Order: sequence, then structure tokens, then C-alpha cells
Amino acid sequence: MKIVLLGPPGAGKGTLAESLRDTLGLLHISTGDILREEMKNGTPLGKEAKKFVESGGLVPDELVTRLIKNRLENDPKAKKGFLMDGFPRTQKQAEDLDKILKDLNQPVDCTLCLEASVKTVVQRLTGRRVCKQCGALYHMTNKPPKKEGVCDNCGGPLYQRADDNEETIQNRMKVYTESTKPIIEYYKAQGKLRSIDADTDSQTVRTAALKIING
Ligand code: ADP
Ligand code: ZN
Repeated sequence: MKIVLLGPPGAGKGTLAESLRDTLGLLHISTGDILREEMKNGTPLGKEAKKFVESGGLVPDELVTRLIKNRLENDPKAKKGFLMDGFPRTQKQAEDLDKILKDLNQPVDCTLCLEASVKTVVQRLTGRRVCKQCGALYHMTNKPPKKEGVCDNCGGPLYQRADDNEETIQNRMKVYTESTKPIIEYYKAQGKLRSIDADTDSQTVRTAALKIING
């Protein structure tokens, strides 16, 4: 199963992907996670991406598409299927993804669009905390760790992403509306779009997603 997750930042794409990954035996591919890893390791690509990510803008299409192409062509786990999170984010990326998958003979099966209000996403992004060690996601009020500042899974320290501040969030929302939202129509035209109400708790979103996927 090849699934693309769509929706604004903070809609819960990463949370849903983490929750479905093991259940469905799919690879979770997050361009945001890949870019943050490259930035942390100070690779040339990470250095190039940093200024875009930190301002809440988009990393150039060519750069992210290359990352995705590499992953899809070279990671054997991707062949079994994936949950794509954070890509595509522009019309060009959507078209390029289709080309890459066509060459691999494994087209997208469905796109799940998580629909959440601005109020919800701002609340989720400002309260989000991430484990530095294993990447597990938390939220100050919606999903606090058992011990403050410490990951339940691995005991690693929790941190707040540099782009999860009010000002950068406003910019990410603007970029979403202008560049990413239009690709909803692209998938609708292919008959692949399914919408999910994401203004609700993560368990309800998971149940709705599984219902769609299992037909
Ligand atoms: P969120 O969905 O919470 O906004 P992500 O972790 O998906 O966060 O992405 C963080 C940042 O990484 C984005 O604001 C952007 O700068 C960059 N990024 C991630 N995916 C892409 C992409 N497909 N194209 C361009 N930039 C991207
Ligand atoms: Zn952890």
C-alpha cells in the first residue's frame, strides 16, 4: 500500500504515520524528519536546507525530490509500501512523485487528507515536544510524558522544534495555503483523495484512517 498523507502542519500526519506504521507494516517516510537529521549531522544538504526550514519556508523542490527518489529507489522496505508524510508539498513535487513511482511500477494507492482548523493546528504545534533521541512525539497538554521533559520510550530528553514558534508557524500556514493546498485538487482529479476530520483525538483519526484503508 502506497499512502500519501496531506494536510496542514500540525494536522497530525506524523502522529498518524507513527501509529499506523507497525499495524500496516509500512515504511514511514517524513521529509521533515530526513531534513532535520541531515541538519543535525551538518551534511552539505542539511546546511543548504537549514535556512529554509528555520524560516518556515519550503526547501527547493529539486533538493527534496532527490531525497525522496533516493529513498524510494534504494530502501528495500519502501517496496512493501509506505506512508509519505510532508511530501509532496508543491504541484511540481506531486508530479515528480508520480513520475518516480511510475518508473518503479508502484503508483500511489490513496491520499489521506487530514482536515484541521487553524485553532487546532496552532495549539498542537505550540505545545509539541519531540524526543531528541528516538523522535517520539509528545504534547504539553494533549499527550504529556510521564516524567516532565523525559521520553517514555527511551528516557531521552524532549525538546521544542526551532520552527514551532508562533511567528514561524504563521509563515508555515501561509506557505501551506499557497503552495500545498492546491495539490489536494491534483489528487482529487485522480480519484485518490479521501478526507478525514482531524479536529479530534488521535485514536479517532486512526480508526477513521484504518476504515478507509481496509475498505
Ligand atoms: P510540519 O508538517 O509540522 O510543518 P515537517 O517536519 O513536515 O513539519 O517539515 C518541516 C520543514 O521542513 C518545513 O517547514 C519545510 O521547511 C521543510 N520541508 C519538509 N518537507 C518538505 C517538502 N516536501 N518540500 C519543501 N520543504 C519541505
Ligand atoms: Zn525517545
